[in-house]
Amino acid sequence: MPDTLHRTGSITFDHIGKQYSNGVEALSNVDFTIKPGQFVTIVGPSGCGKSTLLRIAAGLSWPTSGKAVVPKTKPGVVFQDATLLPWKTVLQNVELPGKLDGLKQDDYEKKAMNVLYNVDLDKFADSYPGQLSGGMKMRVSIARALSLEPSVMLFDEPFGALDEITRLHMQDELQKIIVNNPFTGMFITHSVSEAVYLGSRVIVMAARPGRVIDDITVPAPYPRPASYRYQPEFQQIVERITNALIKGSAMSDPEHGSPSK
Ligand code: ADP
Repeated sequence: MPDTLHRTGSITFDHIGKQYSNGVEALSNVDFTIKPGQFVTIVGPSGCGKSTLLRIAAGLSWPTSGKAVVPKTKPGVVFQDATLLPWKTVLQNVELPGKLDGLKQDDYEKKAMNVLYNVDLDKFADSYPGQLSGGMKMRVSIARALSLEPSVMLFDEPFGALDEITRLHMQDELQKIIVNNPFTGMFITHSVSEAVYLGSRVIVMAARPGRVIDDITVPAPYPRPASYRYQPEFQQIVERITNALIKGSAMSDPEHGSPSK
């Protein structure tokens, strides 16, 4: 039986702002903490600063005001494109971060098999990416990000390019992964229903300037059944977020780069 993996970093945005050198205020007074083991989704329109926030969480960018406290170790990052090497097997793809990090062969092999088992892909260790469905490739990509046991996992709109049915399936798969491998996660999405279905907490953002306009706890425990999407609790939260997004966009003034009075 492989080890259960525990990743328990935290991320704090302490009243942060980010102004780019061209004067764009990408983030203004963003202030929240993702606690150890919490899986938080961030939803908002294009340009509200989601990617900027993710880069700051990854330690690849810095706020121009306030303070961000992020783990010193490398995060696990999952992008929209699974970016697997087609000439390497599933196992070799998942071993790659450990290999590049200079781990001993025994170590990276063990970590890769362990994580493949945890995402239920151990039987496909010797398959090539070209033999897998889009959803399975995405699971390999998640396994690869988990392989170095990062203290936080960052998801940059990973399911955005998948067809709707695969996307719903992946949302269920990700919940299973969360249950089997509790980790601290920050998940960016454009989709309100995806944010609510996946997040134990949803941060809602608006643009110009990029800012937090709502912060909602989603009480349903993981794993949530597909039917949760039809329950009143789910629909009420979706409605609350949708209203916040409509209000937030009406208050953003594209001409002047700040909320209208
Ligand atoms: P999102 O991911 O929500 O679409 P971004 O974080 O990419 O938002 O962008 C927020 C705002 O900052 C946008 O107005 C965008 O044009 C601007 N922006 C992003 N990166 C840069 C950059 N490197 N230089 C200047 N402006 C940027």
